[in-house]
Amino acid sequence: MGALSDLQPILDRIGAEMAEAPDRGRVADYIPELAHVSDRQFAMAVCLPDGQCLTSGAADTGFSIQSISKVFTLAIALGRLGDQLWTRVGREPSGLSFNSVVQLETENGIPRNPFINAGALVVTDAILTGRTPREVLGEVLRFLREAASDDDIHINKAVAASEQAHGHRNLALAHFMAAHGNLVNPPALTCGTYFHQCAIEMTARQLAMAGRFLMGAPGAARLVSPARVRRINALMLTCGHYDGSGEFAYRVGLPGKSGVGGGILAIAPGRASIAVWSPGLNEQGNSQLGTLAIERLARATGWSVFG
Ligand code: GLN
Repeated sequence: MGALSDLQPILDRIGAEMAEAPDRGRVADYIPELAHVSDRQFAMAVCLPDGQCLTSGAADTGFSIQSISKVFTLAIALGRLGDQLWTRVGREPSGLSFNSVVQLETENGIPRNPFINAGALVVTDAILTGRTPREVLGEVLRFLREAASDDDIHINKAVAASEQAHGHRNLALAHFMAAHGNLVNPPALTCGTYFHQCAIEMTARQLAMAGRFLMGAPGAARLVSPARVRRINALMLTCGHYDGSGEFAYRVGLPGKSGVGGGILAIAPGRASIAVWSPGLNEQGNSQLGTLAIERLARATGWSVFG
């Protein structure tokens, strides 16, 4: 990748290609409030170590970050508990869908990794212990606002309520873990906090800005240490797209975390923090065009963790 001036035309071209794409995937509807979002939308934002942020498409339109929030709660939980967190959640890809319950039965209520729903519920439960949901959500918002250098980041209460009203599966995961002694707080309290963290709304620009600590941007170590950042990136690469993680690593070659709102945060260590958004999802619940757009960006720039 040459000078910065080379990058904007690449983003413009990818934006134009995505507008023409015939297969846009399917918008998630198991959270009814998300089903209203039009699948025609696309945005991409790329933040560079020098502080510049380039965009294409609707980069200032807010969307539900959903499971991308799991990266930030993991960073907070590791900051609070350190390696003790790993007694309650593993670090292996699950090879199953994001909301799967099956491994919990054979693996004693210990979720495979912090990015599937069961694992993210444990992470939220860990930071909730001894505190109120309001305090925890305040901390998540403060973390995001500081990371993004932007105070205009909020929770969409309608999305949180919509998920709460249809959250049987996450409640089942939480109850199952409680039965194994791997949940400290009442399942409804942990799930309620989790639904609200997932309902945080951000724009692609804000998300790419917030991801700068993961690319090792100057000054980022004050939020999360470099050693921890490397480990979070390793988990994003191996587990960030659930049963689509291998495919994402193969096609894109960068750590990434998806959400059912259609967002993806991807990190080119030392080079860029990338956010894309397109609400249509593929079979694994990851943004169809978001994946394609990052794949094209990685190919055009040569950005890859594999050299
Ligand atoms: N809040 C969503 C859920 O728990 C998050 C899932 C996702 O983004 N993959 O189902």
